[in-house]
Amino acid sequence: MPTTLDELAVVASTCTRCPLAEGRTQVVFGVGDPHADLLFVGEAPGAEEDRQGLPFVGRSGQLLDKLMAEELGLTRDRVYIANVVKCRPPDNRDPRPDEIVACRPYLGRQVELIAPRVVVTLGKFAGQLLLDSTVPITKLRGRSYPYGDAVLIPTVHPAYALRGGGAVLAQMRADFVRAKQALAGEPVGNDR
Ligand code: URA
Repeated sequence: MPTTLDELAVVASTCTRCPLAEGRTQVVFGVGDPHADLLFVGEAPGAEEDRQGLPFVGRSGQLLDKLMAEELGLTRDRVYIANVVKCRPPDNRDPRPDEIVACRPYLGRQVELIAPRVVVTLGKFAGQLLLDSTVPITKLRGRSYPYGDAVLIPTVHPAYALRGGGAVLAQMRADFVRAKQALAGEPVGNDR
């Protein structure tokens, strides 16, 4: 069992646990502070992430960086960013259940090794997976949940916020404010 993120990344880099291995340029393991208080969990790498080997480097990533700076006063080197699935699904399709199951141990071990105080899930796949729920993300978001020793705050995916306009973006900002409250050890405000 890998005891550091670097060791785990080496194991993941040659992974063939699911068919996504065949189409990837490289495994997108994750990036950031290995002891971060705040962990973001997205869905899966896109084309640019697959090329660069880094999560959230496209348009969604630009929005993530912007909200992180504006609402949390943080840069990506101060947090950790990972995905549910570490390899790019072809044609930007959703990750399949078998792929999510195959990749699950990597995220599980990342959470154990990073031991964040706050986890923010971005989009339905990360939120539903970590909360073991089938509730739509629009209903899951708006509050915090206990997650082991951490606090979990589900929010929408930045790509959805980019498409959804002002109202969705405002919801995402409100969820980032919840993350800030949780990081400060303050009670987290709820929409409902
Ligand atoms: N969307 C994700 O969910 N993850 C990435 O790394 C990039 C885009």
